[in-house]
Amino acid sequence: MTAEFRLRRTDHPTSPQAREEILADPGFGRHFTDHMVTVAWTPDAGWHDHQVTALAPFTLHPGAAVLHYAQEILEGLKAFRRADGSIWLFRPGLNARRFAASADRMVLPELDEETFVESVAALVRADEAWVPPYGGEQSLYLRPFMFASEAFLGVRPAQQVTYCVIACPAGSYFPNGVTGVTLWISTKYSRASIGGTGAAKCGGNYAASLAPQREALGHGCEQVLYLGGEQRRDIDESGTMNVFFVTRDQQLVTPSLGTILDGVTRDSVLTLAAEHGLDPVERSIGMDEIRDGLADGTVTEAFAAGTAAVITPIIGFKSEEFAAEVGDGTPGKYTRQFRTHLLDIQYGRAEDTHGWMHRV
Ligand code: PMP
Repeated sequence: MTAEFRLRRTDHPTSPQAREEILADPGFGRHFTDHMVTVAWTPDAGWHDHQVTALAPFTLHPGAAVLHYAQEILEGLKAFRRADGSIWLFRPGLNARRFAASADRMVLPELDEETFVESVAALVRADEAWVPPYGGEQSLYLRPFMFASEAFLGVRPAQQVTYCVIACPAGSYFPNGVTGVTLWISTKYSRASIGGTGAAKCGGNYAASLAPQREALGHGCEQVLYLGGEQRRDIDESGTMNVFFVTRDQQLVTPSLGTILDGVTRDSVLTLAAEHGLDPVERSIGMDEIRDGLADGTVTEAFAAGTAAVITPIIGFKSEEFAAEVGDGTPGKYTRQFRTHLLDIQYGRAEDTHGWMHRV
């Protein structure tokens, strides 16, 4: 049964004028809405105290396990306003299932899919005015997360856990038109190992990504492309995006699941591939294969897929071993088609034939 969230509105809402100013240029992750969702968990009581309340700092004991051992997981999804004013979530059930899988990997309690989706919807309803207006690819970014709040320094699953959802208005990812990124293929750092936490969305993965990201920036690249596999010669994924390659013989190739995050955008692109005349293929992809394919023209396009930017064209790769450009440095035909198609579904301009949109 879906839990009910008790709403207690803030006594100090942001003024409409201040909110309008923020929504005029929200950026990403800088401004937060007026409310948050919290739910508490203990082994005896299970999930309890489902609330939507004023956004406020936590009171956290310095011994809280999350601060020491990073028993924590997160999700990221968006709410979109359509031309008619209605507000919709994109495939929130997939985020719920991935959250449950991440919880299992970190031995955190599972939150059922209905409660997860309702928690997000309840926050969007409370902060409805914070969903940016239609037009211009803006959205309300939602961040559900769960952490070990028990004060205990032993290394074992926490007996006190907090679930929370916060929200930030998000501006267009590409306000000046879609531009591509060059990825640094790191041979020094890995993101994930077989049996590790690569498939889980846990905070520690992102802390570990900061050094490779620094390395990428130092080489003039925007983001990292990680290698994996037994020999660390296979394409894994980018920092916060899954990667795809289009081949001359109309294949859409992406690394198989295993150590990578099971991206919602990745799954959506694979599902839409046939509608664009491409044959979706999930398999291991060697770095050498991509280097050779770019050199001989077998690989015609590359792009990255994730909630934040939807589809980001990849215009080049660099590593200690080689540097290669993709196409002519502008977004390829399929890259543009997938981007437009997904955005059109999200903003209600294209028919939602797969039943992906969830009205709040
Ligand atoms: N990989 C990683 C490591 C990520 O953090 C994300 C963003 N959640 C993705 C891939 C893309 O996943 P999604 O399409 O669900 O946003």
